[in-house]
Amino acid sequence: MSLIKFTNKGIYCPRAEVYIDPLKKVDRALITHGHSDHARRGHKRYLCTHASKPILRHRLGKIDCDSIEYHESLNINGVNFSFHPSGHIIGSAQIRAEYKGEIWVVSGDYKVAADGFTEPFEPVKCHHFITESTFGLPIYKWDDPAITANQLNEWWALNQANNKVSIILAYALGKAQRIIHDLDPSIGSIYTDSAVEGINSVIRNHGIPIKATTLFTPDINKKSLVGNIMVATPSIMNADWVDQLIPYDTAAASGWMMLNNTRKRRNVDQAFVISDHADWKGLLSAIQATEAENVYVTHGYTDFFTKYLRESGWNARVVTT
Ligand SMILES: [Zn+2]
Repeated sequence: MSLIKFTNKGIYCPRAEVYIDPLKKVDRALITHGHSDHARRGHKRYLCTHASKPILRHRLGKIDCDSIEYHESLNINGVNFSFHPSGHIIGSAQIRAEYKGEIWVVSGDYKVAADGFTEPFEPVKCHHFITESTFGLPIYKWDDPAITANQLNEWWALNQANNKVSIILAYALGKAQRIIHDLDPSIGSIYTDSAVEGINSVIRNHGIPIKATTLFTPDINKKSLVGNIMVATPSIMNADWVDQLIPYDTAAASGWMMLNNTRKRRNVDQAFVISDHADWKGLLSAIQATEAENVYVTHGYTDFFTKYLRESGWNARVVTT
């Protein structure tokens, strides 16, 4: 019996009777991180890292959730499980499963370059490695995080010099906190929308500091935003008060901003290539560091990436979960 199986409910460990990031309702779910395509509603019991737990509670409401420290080992029906930083967002983990010397690692989503905010990615040696391939094409190549942080602050300072409001659109969990970490508060004040501020509060309450932010509410004097920056989810662009912030400059931050058509589609003034996933080289270096002989490729450019791995000598295959 294989220690890990790919089923229509998701990645399954039959011996321990647990699923990892299950797609459908199950009795026991081990969760790599709080993004909604990994932490779904409706499972009977959840297990995640201590830092993920308040995020899961914030997003999923009342759930039966246990949590574990990074590197701590938990034995479930003879299988040893442990969680290791994946560098993706706060609390995110790769999940390691070991039984009688056979080791599997489910990496969830990961980013190899340290961003100074998220617990940095740690390679975990294993025989079987399950990897994402969101940016599994050679065209995806990220700049050093310090360079993109400078670009962000230069854009903000330029808008300030032109008496504009800066609005940067980002996903509420993960990307928003990373951007706030990158911003230089000596330039001005950082405002947030309610979705971003909700996650900020959860993370701060867990004891992880985030730079000072002010929740923007429509009753705030719009003039007070001139020269300052708002980190918000894209939906705020549909709010009726957003026109009152004119003149403003908008930006988006994502790995997809490498693609010209994505830049156009997002309809923003400025695009920053900032991702919480590994780029092409990051994926390859992570896989190499695991020393795994078997690689299973999930969401992303699975076919291309798997073909490349096979041609480079790995026993790789695409898995659909
Ligand atoms: Zn994610």
